[in-house]
Amino acid sequence: MENKVRVRFAPSPTGPLHIGGVRTALFNYLFAKHNGGDFLVRIEDTDQTRFVEGAEEYIKQSLEWAGIVADEAPWKPGECGPYRQSERKEIYREYAEKLVQNDLAYYAFDTPEELEEMRERLKQARVNTPQYNAMTRMQMTNSLTLSAEEVKQRIDNGDPYVIRLKVPRKEEIRLNDMVRGWVMVHSHTIDDKILMKSDGMPTYHLANVVDDHLMGITHVIRGEEWLPSAPLHVLLYKYLGWEETMPRFAHLPLLLKPDGNGKLSKRDGDKMGFAVFPLEWKDPATGDISRGFKQDGYLNDAFINFLAFLGWNPGDEREFFTMEEL
Ligand code: GLU
Repeated sequence: MENKVRVRFAPSPTGPLHIGGVRTALFNYLFAKHNGGDFLVRIEDTDQTRFVEGAEEYIKQSLEWAGIVADEAPWKPGECGPYRQSERKEIYREYAEKLVQNDLAYYAFDTPEELEEMRERLKQARVNTPQYNAMTRMQMTNSLTLSAEEVKQRIDNGDPYVIRLKVPRKEEIRLNDMVRGWVMVHSHTIDDKILMKSDGMPTYHLANVVDDHLMGITHVIRGEEWLPSAPLHVLLYKYLGWEETMPRFAHLPLLLKPDGNGKLSKRDGDKMGFAVFPLEWKDPATGDISRGFKQDGYLNDAFINFLAFLGWNPGDEREFFTMEEL
């Protein structure tokens, strides 16, 4: 697997795949194929509150229609699977516990009331963004302030707890994004992010980093909305001892509304009379049906060319490319 380019598309099954998601998948796919590498699809379904029935199947069918073929996916298993995060819970727990043992993370037992109290206290002290971090963690109910015996007792009691990352108070975190160039963030702007939730599920950050590492991902190509999370991910790679093999990051500009103001949404599509989904989607909660490009009569080739030509041109007069040529 060494040195072979491996990229992934990692959608959360929270609804139908949006045109922006297909573009991310397409860029990953083309990057993999251009470099003789592998393209993986990983379903990031650890947020049970946002899970939408049928979304994974929709993602699969949309990619198929668009001609974006996965080398490894929940529906095409390979040796790094399972490729559905809800089936990998134990793996994430193991790494979170390891971070706790190495004093890089800690158990936090604070109740919602205690957290609210902290926020109030900080607001009164005129702190603009109240954070659970190096400045405040020592006043809270966690394994850094409780004795080992108390921690054990609480866990044995079945008290709910989360595992939080111990973010250093003063450190410059840097990454060299393939699109944006050098990005630097001061660690005090990041709070002690939750890694494991009280329901036993990991948060996006932990699961994403652990999987990218275990699945041998060499390049993380994703939407710009994830750029603010990247420094935290860099810190996680460092804490987990994986700096040497950290993937390179490329954060793609978002698809914007026609007036350039904000991210393109289904509502914009509806208003302007264009689809934003590849296929027709029936919302399981409301029964509402949204048109897709396919139902609007677009051919998959035209759809892919439209996406490829957003923000790029071949520098000559050609207007159509097959997937091979792309
Ligand atoms: N699950 C995230 C999403 O839904 C993936 C972000 C990433 O690619 O790291 O977009």
